[in-house]
Amino acid sequence: MLHAEGPLLTIDLTDRSATRTPIDDVLESFIGGRGVATALAHDRIPFDADPFGPENRAYLATGPLQLSSTSFTGRLSMTGLSPLTDGLVSTNAGGFLSREFAATGISTLEVTGASDELLIAHVTDEEVEFEPVPELIGATVPEVSDHVAETRDLGPENCIAIGPAGENRVRFASVMTFDSRAFGRGGLGAVLGSKNLKAVTFEGDSAPEIEIPDPPEMEIHREAATSDDLMRRQGTTGNTEFINENFSLPTRYFSEYEFESAADIGGNAVEEKKYKKGACSRCAYACKLPTRDEETGFETEGPEFETVYAFGSNQGVGDIVDVMKANDLCDRYGLDTISAGVTVAAYLASEDEFGNAELARETVEKIARREGIGDDLAEGVHRVHDQLGVDDYTVKGMEFAAHDGRVLHGQGLSYAVANRGADHMYGGLLSPEYAGEIDPEGTLGKADLLVEHENRNAIRDSAIVCAFASGHITDERLAALLETDYEELLAVGARTIERERHFNNRRGIDADADALPYEIPDLEAAIQEYYEARGLREDGTLPDDRIEPIATDLGAGDGAAASPADD
Ligand code: SF4
Repeated sequence: MLHAEGPLLTIDLTDRSATRTPIDDVLESFIGGRGVATALAHDRIPFDADPFGPENRAYLATGPLQLSSTSFTGRLSMTGLSPLTDGLVSTNAGGFLSREFAATGISTLEVTGASDELLIAHVTDEEVEFEPVPELIGATVPEVSDHVAETRDLGPENCIAIGPAGENRVRFASVMTFDSRAFGRGGLGAVLGSKNLKAVTFEGDSAPEIEIPDPPEMEIHREAATSDDLMRRQGTTGNTEFINENFSLPTRYFSEYEFESAADIGGNAVEEKKYKKGACSRCAYACKLPTRDEETGFETEGPEFETVYAFGSNQGVGDIVDVMKANDLCDRYGLDTISAGVTVAAYLASEDEFGNAELARETVEKIARREGIGDDLAEGVHRVHDQLGVDDYTVKGMEFAAHDGRVLHGQGLSYAVANRGADHMYGGLLSPEYAGEIDPEGTLGKADLLVEHENRNAIRDSAIVCAFASGHITDERLAALLETDYEELLAVGARTIERERHFNNRRGIDADADALPYEIPDLEAAIQEYYEARGLREDGTLPDDRIEPIATDLGAGDGAAASPADD
């Protein structure tokens, strides 16, 4: 089986050291990306770590396909202990960083410790240099890019960076790359902020060579270039009206299921504002959305569908330019648009101000800078809903994505049991439910399919393949690309998810956290079906003997010591 190549680079910000360590055993077992980072995080972050403590570790990892020219592979994955969910989260982003990262010759970056002053770490294939940047305190993401361009002659594609939201430990702060692409969910920007790490740059000429089988590589590339999917023109927003018609577009802080102005913020409205093509590295599908409002000259990239929901329908805002502006603010300040949008929607609900886009923008700025009410909202809906007097629309502390689980019941089950919380990219029965392949009504009998989807998504995030590639990088083609069979890949996905669950269990996250803030049919029984399909106990925990210790030669944390004796 093909897997990522190259050592683990550990940067310890406390003593400003850098160490390269071979991790071949981890790469062989977990492919790359989310799988490798999850295995390392499980074994090396103490189970009782404070998400904002120096003992937390953040991982940035590549997969084997980032060394190829295959469309849909211009992505990297990040993993760490989330200050939002208090469990492990992984999130991935596109852009152009993946090839720059691979050029440094490493497979995985691990950031640990904490600096006593704000730093940028410059990673090359030969060394790591630490640059104190007190002048960048409070800087936005584009301001960091400007600094890197002026001082190093590097572009935003060479960087990950946080904005003021990350520095201020907003629990849903994102890590940005290429200014507009977000490692969005779970607050890993706040983890870097707690370590006083403003940015990392990557530059080198030492990419490992991996031979990618062809076919199917060129077939995929050809299809991506010639596809006439609506998504190529409108990105994910192309589905807005369909989702609205299916009553699964949360509106006015989840009080309604459909939005009367969906057409004004949906795919056609976005396409009207699109002024050129946009892509991720070497992706011929090119579904990104550089947009411009001709009337004012305002430009941004996006919004994608989830932002249309979070800052549009769920706030009662029906003007696409308002959504574009909110999207742009989140990118500049380094905020996850879903959690930020839902949190602002909760605030608008408490103030009876739905539709007030100007107040929404002011609130985003206050959250990023933790000013006034923004300081409370920066904690996220789960921690602030009582104060606001609104319902807690989160799972495990993570704000809901769209695709309403009250209508798509299998998707509701997926939200309830996902280790990452209410995120649509984790398991997701939304696609077969929208497509009518399974009945959206009811939760029973869907557990096996959910487990397969979760495992498949874990492989996708490990290889690393864009979620929008499903029609082109099929299961069979992915297995061919990685020179293995699909069943073996599913086993890698299962191992990854088991490590997430085990880590979370050890932090006290179990069946009590597998819950929804609303009722759907037979949820308790369906959750037990899921536990059985996943091999969990009735209390939602994974037996310790399912975790095979690895990486014991890395100076591992307490996860590596997990053994049947602990069970
Ligand atoms: S399909 Fe779209 S989001 Fe995915 S890698 Fe290609 S351009 Fe990027």
